[in-house]
Amino acid sequence: KAKDLGKNGWRLFEASMDAAFRNRQLMKADLRSAVEANALRIVYQPIVAMETMRIVSCEALCRWDHPDLGPISPAIFIPLAEEMGIISQVSELVLKAACAECAKWPSHISVSVNLSAKDFRDSDVVAKVRAALDGAKLAPNRLEIEVTETALLDDKAQTRELIQEIKKLGVRIALDDFGTGYSSLSYLHKLPLDKVKIDRSFLIDVVQSPRSLELLKGIVSLSRSLGLSVTIEGVETFEQLKILSQQIEPDLAQGFLFGSALSASGIETMSSTIWPFANDIAAPRKRPN
Ligand code: C2E
Ligand code: MG
Ligand code: MG
Ligand code: MG
Repeated sequence: KAKDLGKNGWRLFEASMDAAFRNRQLMKADLRSAVEANALRIVYQPIVAMETMRIVSCEALCRWDHPDLGPISPAIFIPLAEEMGIISQVSELVLKAACAECAKWPSHISVSVNLSAKDFRDSDVVAKVRAALDGAKLAPNRLEIEVTETALLDDKAQTRELIQEIKKLGVRIALDDFGTGYSSLSYLHKLPLDKVKIDRSFLIDVVQSPRSLELLKGIVSLSRSLGLSVTIEGVETFEQLKILSQQIEPDLAQGFLFGSALSASGIETMSSTIWPFANDIAAPRKRPN
């Protein structure tokens, strides 16, 4: 009897594995079509200067609306695209769209684009960045590339060279999700970085926990001492913003408090906004009146 149950259990397991596998295969086929049809959407999340509480930049984030399944998270489809070997096509689409939109925004707004570790396996990545800038006639200093620590771990020498070349174009380089990877600290001075984006996990209990606050302070001051500009990701509440403003003073902040990602025209609309809570933040420094 036990054996039969076991068998049944195994069959169920097999059946669901099979379904999951088929779903994945179907999803891959659909993703390929979506990329070929240029059907991925790009949205832009505002990035705000702490000193002025105005938008100075935004992050291009890729969206896929599946015809039957609805919106699929990039956390799912980006790894899928990497696995399928089509991530460089996705990156190319995002680079082109982001540069074209940015060229239409007021010139104080720049844009940042995420590249994947796999993009640096492909030495064409530099040409793709240059082509996107040229195609849009966008000044290189208005584009920033975000790379994660994983990308840097993958194939250090080649990746580092390619990043150097992109930087030589005049494009800025940011280390994304800082603190979530491995030997984070050792990378900070070895790479041609301009900026560190500190992962939102460091901000989560900064309001309640003095120890978390000290940790965040330490990371920010270390980054600063290496000459890097600092962005804090995941600012969701006014309390967090207040602590940032009073005790951390990062250069830039990004998070749902300022807004989630919006259309390119939404960024245009936001370009002259000063957030209403700007004046409520204690110790305003060089904020204009
Ligand atoms: P990321 O590059 O770290 O992007 C920031 C993610 O955090 C975005 O999720 C954004 O919506 C989310 N976020 C922003 N503010 C907040 C906040 O206040 N609270 C919380 N809980 N989350 C916040 P999204 O758009 O789902 O993207 C997830 C990840 O997918 C990105 O993380 C990035 O690694 C990847 N990704 C997205 N678009 C692209 C792309 O075009 N190319 C590549 N290679 N990766 C992409
Ligand atoms: Mg990013
Ligand atoms: Mg990030
Ligand atoms: Mg992230």
